[in-house]
Amino acid sequence: MKKNRTKLLFLALALSVGNVLNANNQDVSNEVKQPPIEIRIEKGRGEIIERPVNNNRNNSVSGRGGTQTIRSSAGSITVDSSYSSKGQNYRQRFIILHYTAMDRDGSLRALTNNEVSSHYLISNQENDPVFYLVDENKRAWHAGASEWKTSKNLNDSSIGIEIVNDGDSRGYFEPFKDFQIKDVAVLVRYLADKYEIPATNILGHSDIAPQRKPDPGPLFPWEELYRKYNIGMWYDNARKSEFENEYSSSWASLPAATVQAELNKFGYTISTTGRWDEQTKNVIKAFQYHFRPSKYDGKLDLETYAILKALNEKYNK
Ligand SMILES: [Zn+2]
Repeated sequence: MKKNRTKLLFLALALSVGNVLNANNQDVSNEVKQPPIEIRIEKGRGEIIERPVNNNRNNSVSGRGGTQTIRSSAGSITVDSSYSSKGQNYRQRFIILHYTAMDRDGSLRALTNNEVSSHYLISNQENDPVFYLVDENKRAWHAGASEWKTSKNLNDSSIGIEIVNDGDSRGYFEPFKDFQIKDVAVLVRYLADKYEIPATNILGHSDIAPQRKPDPGPLFPWEELYRKYNIGMWYDNARKSEFENEYSSSWASLPAATVQAELNKFGYTISTTGRWDEQTKNVIKAFQYHFRPSKYDGKLDLETYAILKALNEKYNK
């Protein structure tokens, strides 16, 4: 009887240890609710007030210097990281903004259960944290076939941020909420500083896939982000006006090839066909979504061209 009781006790103990282990294992599937690294954004102030790092794998920079032993199934070696190569940069070279065109729960489900993914998801519910779904050091699958200047397949080199927003699924674009834009500002500023990402590499999905994608759309406030937080690119109004004067009588007769070359210089992928074709209309529309959102019909006009010239002068001399 006593023996049996001991046995039972042992079994109970083993079971409870098992439960603890199980509970820990299950935490992995709960990452959406409890991200391992949580960026808490204090509403109204927009600062990162807490960033607990409880996973050393994310800390690739720390731990350099000195020697360590690496073991694998093939044996062991000693590695010394006292020396550093001069030629190196971060693999995270772009930040790409999206809207999900789905509600909050649908977005979370799609980004955690399907193949499409993003590093961060900004909810449309103010009490939610910003969801951190894919480690910044890993690729997320948010960009698809994409190009900007000489870079292709931007999943390899970018951090993707999805924002819960219905897009134009109801026939008109849905405005973003103020707190979402604040969240975007904090997150993008943080990532751009951390990985030394230049303003010219902070883009929308529509910029890198103008034939396929409209997001984050014409209601995404690029100008506000630039003026308030120095995020991304924007033109100088004075230069825009000067270009408007310069091209006031000639813009309507500009050859398609000239405009295509100017869009291509800015970064868009466009074939120089010399025709006002569908692909050119799509690129002009993507440009208008980003830089002239008051009218985005995909047709060239004086203001659109003046803004394009002012931006190229500022960022692509
Ligand atoms: Zn997108």
